[in-house]
Amino acid sequence: APGLYVVATPIGNLGDITVRALETLSAADLVACEDTRVTRVLLDRYAIRTKLVAYHEHNAARMRPRLLEDLAEGRSIALVSDAGTPLISDPGYRLVVDAAAAGHRVVPIPGASALLSALVTAGLPTDAFLFAGFLAPKSAARRRRLAELARTPATLVFYESPRRLGECLADMAETLGADRQAAVARELTKLHETVVRGPLSELAAAFAGDPPRGEIVIAVGPPGEIAADPDDVDRLLAEALARLP
Ligand code: SAM
Repeated sequence: APGLYVVATPIGNLGDITVRALETLSAADLVACEDTRVTRVLLDRYAIRTKLVAYHEHNAARMRPRLLEDLAEGRSIALVSDAGTPLISDPGYRLVVDAAAAGHRVVPIPGASALLSALVTAGLPTDAFLFAGFLAPKSAARRRRLAELARTPATLVFYESPRRLGECLADMAETLGADRQAAVARELTKLHETVVRGPLSELAAAFAGDPPRGEIVIAVGPPGEIAADPDDVDRLLAEALARLP
């Protein structure tokens, strides 16, 4: 059926693709992808011969009107990114906005994303979480953003480049709190998959040396108990007063 299909692809292990994603990629008139070489490997693996077109940061403004025209002519487009779920720190947001505004069907074909795989293995609360994507590469801007997030009562999930992992964890320990529980998930679903869990100060120390290889997600647990209940405030106050000389 015509429409824009937002199709999740694997984040490492090529087996992590749904039956419905494969059917959608086969049936589509066009697969819009970030890098045709990367997506070709996936499609070849499943003997899918749908035409590929590149849709990425640098040609999006030029390509979007053409893709919208295809949709208007009744074609079906499968949007994929190099890995995981499109639009999650990947292209596609404007295309979805414009396709929906033009009255086209926008259909999710869910599957892998590093965000959820990291969250569910981090050993941190999952009832509320905030995905903060990539932090700024420079420390000052990164710290400003971390300071804004510091009191958010939710697990925080970040994507980070291995080159900056050490300095990023050090900034986190300082701005979010050295004792805050966190996890570094590396190479999820791949051969060298590892998840290291511990307080931010320990993780910062563990990754202070040579940068690790591979792809990384950092998850940080929510801040410690905040005395929100008035009874708690009274009790804490009484305890504090009792300690005064
Ligand atoms: N759209 C993708 C998704 O749904 O997860 C994310 C794309 S973003 C450009 C790439 C970043 O995702 C990497 O720098 C890394 O932080 C994270 N990532 C992707 N694959 C990963 C994996 N297998 N293990 C750990 N992190 C991964």
